[in-house]
Amino acid sequence: MGKFLGYCCSICQTEYGPDEVTYTCPKDGGNLDVVLDYESIRKQISPEALAESSDNSIWRYLPLIPVDDPGHLGTPLRAVGWTPLFTPTRLAQHLGLHHLWLKDDGRNPTASFKDRASAVVIARAQMIGARVVVTASTGNAGAALAGMAAAAGMPAVILAPKTAPQAKVAQLLIFGAQVFLVDGTYDQAFDLTLEAAEAFSWYCRNTGYNPFTAEGKKTAAFEICEQYTYAVGVVGEPPLHWETPDTVFVSVGDGNIISSLHKGFKDLLSLGWIDNIPKLFGIQSEGSAAIYNAFINGTEEIVPVKADTIADSISVDLPRDGLRALRAATQTNGAYLSVSDESILKAMQDLAREAAVFAEPAGATAYAGLVKAVADGLVGSEERILVLNTGNGLKDVQAAMKAAGEATVIGPTLEALKRVLR
Ligand SMILES: *Cc1c(COP(=O)(O)O)cnc(C)c1O
Ligand SMILES: [Zn+2]
Repeated sequence: MGKFLGYCCSICQTEYGPDEVTYTCPKDGGNLDVVLDYESIRKQISPEALAESSDNSIWRYLPLIPVDDPGHLGTPLRAVGWTPLFTPTRLAQHLGLHHLWLKDDGRNPTASFKDRASAVVIARAQMIGARVVVTASTGNAGAALAGMAAAAGMPAVILAPKTAPQAKVAQLLIFGAQVFLVDGTYDQAFDLTLEAAEAFSWYCRNTGYNPFTAEGKKTAAFEICEQYTYAVGVVGEPPLHWETPDTVFVSVGDGNIISSLHKGFKDLLSLGWIDNIPKLFGIQSEGSAAIYNAFINGTEEIVPVKADTIADSISVDLPRDGLRALRAATQTNGAYLSVSDESILKAMQDLAREAAVFAEPAGATAYAGLVKAVADGLVGSEERILVLNTGNGLKDVQAAMKAAGEATVIGPTLEALKRVLR
C-alpha cells in the first residue's frame, strides 16, 4: 500500500493524507484526485511484466490501483475489465477511416463499464471496514455495485430514479440489493444517498463523489494502451513501452468516465510508459449537454440543464464530475460534441449491423460522436481512433426496439415466408 499517498482537490489543489478525507474536498466540495507514489509503483510493475500476466482483468494492474488485493478469487469481481478490442473494418470503410478500434465494455460482468468502479469501491469498502455500500444510480452504477457486492457477500442499497429502464431495475433486484425507486430525478436520488450514507454510516459509491470510482475506471486507459500496443503488433521482445491511439471517443454524462480515462493516461505518462496522451473527445446527448455547453462557451462554469434524452445512462442535469471532465478534453486537445437522440439510435443500428456490437443508447453515443466528427472534418482519415462502448444493448430493450423496428409476424408456411421475403 506504499503506492497510495493521499488526495489532491481538483478545484483548490489542497492535498490531503490517505485518512484525512473520505469523499470530496471539505473546503469547496471539489472532486479529489488520488495521488500515487510512482517511484514505488515502478518497482512493482512494468510493461514487460504485464506482457507475461495471465490475469485478464483490471486486477492485472493492482500495483496501480490504490487498494489491497480484494480477494474473492473465482468470482465475477475478478472478471471485470480486459474487455475486447475490436477492429470494425466495415464501419471504418463507411467512415473513410483507415485505423479504427472499438473497445466493448458492455462485456463486463454486469454488462457495463461501471463494473470497473464498483469492483474497486468494494475493495476500498473492505479495507475501511464498511459493512454496507450505497449508491445513487440511473441504473448501471447500481447494477455494477449490486453485482460486485453480491460477489463479495456485502449488502448494497441502491437508489434509482423511478424512470430507470426496467431491465436495469431487474438487474438491481436479482443481485439482491435493497432497491428504492425515488419519485424524483437522479440528482435528487444522489443527494438522498449522501444523507443516508452519513446517517447510517454506509460507504457511498456515488459517481463524481467517491474518489475511488475514478481509480477503477482509469483501468480502461491502461487496457487501451496495452491492448492497442499488442494490436498494432510489437513482435518479438515484450514491449518496454506502450503505444497510444491518437484519439479516444467516449460518451459523457456525469463526466467520471472521461476524467478517469484522463487520470489513467496521466498515470502512464508519469510512469514513463507512454509518450503522450490521446485526444479525448467527450460526446453528450443534445438533451443532456451541460459540459458540452461549457466547452463551446469556453468557460469552466458548468450550468445545469433539464436533461431529456433516450440515452438514460448519460441523462444528467448537473454533471458531478464536470470540471475534470471538461479539462479531460481541453488539456488533451480533444473536444466535446453533442449528438441527437436520432443519431444515437442510428449509431446503435450501425454498431450492431456493421460491427456486431450491441450497445445501449449511452454506449452508442460515443460512436454517434465519431460519425459527427467525421462529417464535421474534426478527425483525419489517417488518425488512429478508438471508440469506447460503455454499455450492453440488452440493458434497454425498449430503446433497441426503437432503433431496430418491429419483426414481421407470418403464418407457419413456406408460402407465407415466400410472400414476405419478396
Ligand atoms: C455511466 C455511463 C456513461 C457515462 O459515464 P459518466 O461518468 O456519467 O460520464 C456512459 N455510458 C454508460 C453505458 C454508462 O453507464
Ligand atoms: Zn478544494
